[in-house]
Amino acid sequence: MKSFKHIGKYLLSGSIVAATLLSTTNISSASETNADKSKDKNKDDAVAFGNTKNPKNVIFLVGDGMGPSFNTAYRYYQNDPSAKSMNPTTFDKYLKGTNRTYPNDPKENVTDSAAGATAFSSGHKTYNGAIGVDENKKKVKTVLEDAKEKGKSTGLVSTAELTDATPAAYASHVDSRDKKDEIAKQFYKDKINGKHKVDVLLGGGSKYFGKENGNLDEKFKKDGYDVVSNKNELNQSSKKQVLGLFSEEDMPLQIDAPNSNPLLVDMEKSALSKLEKNDKGFFLMVEGASIDKSAHPNDVTGVMSEMQGFDKAFSNAIDYAKNHKDTLVVATADHSTGGMTIAKGKDYKWNPQAIHQMKHSGSYMTKEIASGKDPEKVIKEGYGIDFPKEQMDKVKKEAKKLKKLTKKSKDDEDPKVEEQTTHLQDAIQKPINDESHTGWTTYGHTGEDVNTYAYGPGSKKFTGNKENTDSAKNIFDFFANDVK
Ligand SMILES: [Zn+2]
Repeated sequence: MKSFKHIGKYLLSGSIVAATLLSTTNISSASETNADKSKDKNKDDAVAFGNTKNPKNVIFLVGDGMGPSFNTAYRYYQNDPSAKSMNPTTFDKYLKGTNRTYPNDPKENVTDSAAGATAFSSGHKTYNGAIGVDENKKKVKTVLEDAKEKGKSTGLVSTAELTDATPAAYASHVDSRDKKDEIAKQFYKDKINGKHKVDVLLGGGSKYFGKENGNLDEKFKKDGYDVVSNKNELNQSSKKQVLGLFSEEDMPLQIDAPNSNPLLVDMEKSALSKLEKNDKGFFLMVEGASIDKSAHPNDVTGVMSEMQGFDKAFSNAIDYAKNHKDTLVVATADHSTGGMTIAKGKDYKWNPQAIHQMKHSGSYMTKEIASGKDPEKVIKEGYGIDFPKEQMDKVKKEAKKLKKLTKKSKDDEDPKVEEQTTHLQDAIQKPINDESHTGWTTYGHTGEDVNTYAYGPGSKKFTGNKENTDSAKNIFDFFANDVK
């Protein structure tokens, strides 16, 4: 118990530093009056935090929707079933604490990705849908903007559209996450000390940077950025600044992606090679966005594919930090999604081996069938386990209903079409959810605390049960105190 008290005390003193920087008052600081005491405290801080130096570089990884059950499920998934004890994942080795994710929203107390990302990009809890603005829709400064002000290089990498909530909340300020054209425009227009805010932009969402939105890609090119659209071009890119748009909307899941598509870890490696050229350091955000996007439709194959992709990016960041002692790596989630549970029904059993046998995600098969392809053929090519005949009849029935509705509908986002697509996807995924014994409770988000993993200088500041806003406060604190 004693050692817990010790850690708690120094975590408190750490949060006082952050709070002072943000010009808020904290009455507990009044107890520190004695000069000797404060000298001792500094020494003890160094012991508690494991370093006296703040990180020059920060790699902040966000597993979107990666609730704690996802990390546990991934441990089962990557384990050798013949081994007696279960191997820890790379995440397990660097677990520091948990984050409370609730938003500051008048109607909802479970967060979305916009409020979640704004909390750890700016240190402000806000309402669901808010991008880089507080509850009064007032612009709030982000750690990426702070890094740029201090002369560092900056990067945003995501498997989602670059205008999606998480990357958007680092480099734009709008009252609604749906204003994606405006978000892309701000990426280009908003400057800090006359320079573009983000040096490395890699992800999906090309449709927000092309003709339909003022040819932003061409404008970036004119300003000296490499503009690339596949893995080969990314590998050949030599400029310090790059805009890489690898799909029109979200990038394909790793299990479904063509070889020409860079994976999350490929984008991260490319980003690091460019950002590290700046002597003043860098801030890089890397998002595994499709963990969430797979969990919404309860697609366990997609979730495990994306957990693996996120693990590769996290492990690579850890390797980088081991070779660059001035680099802090943090990985966390904004919330959990889908209420995924490890085992369902009466059996005490979860079977990840069935998921390993799958050849495509449920979302991929749904898209293929919805686009008019033969359901039997799509299932045969995507499934690696038995698909019962009655279930195939159900898939065909749902596909037929969807076809009818799509024909009638003129609207791209017709709720009836969306609902029927969900019925089709549920029918496609039932055998793998049953065989793997995976349970789900919702198509939305859930409010449990999420895990925080960290390594490198400053990592101990992430110890314990924290507010999601503390992540930003810590990074502001690092950049304020140690950049010379
Ligand atoms: Zn979500």
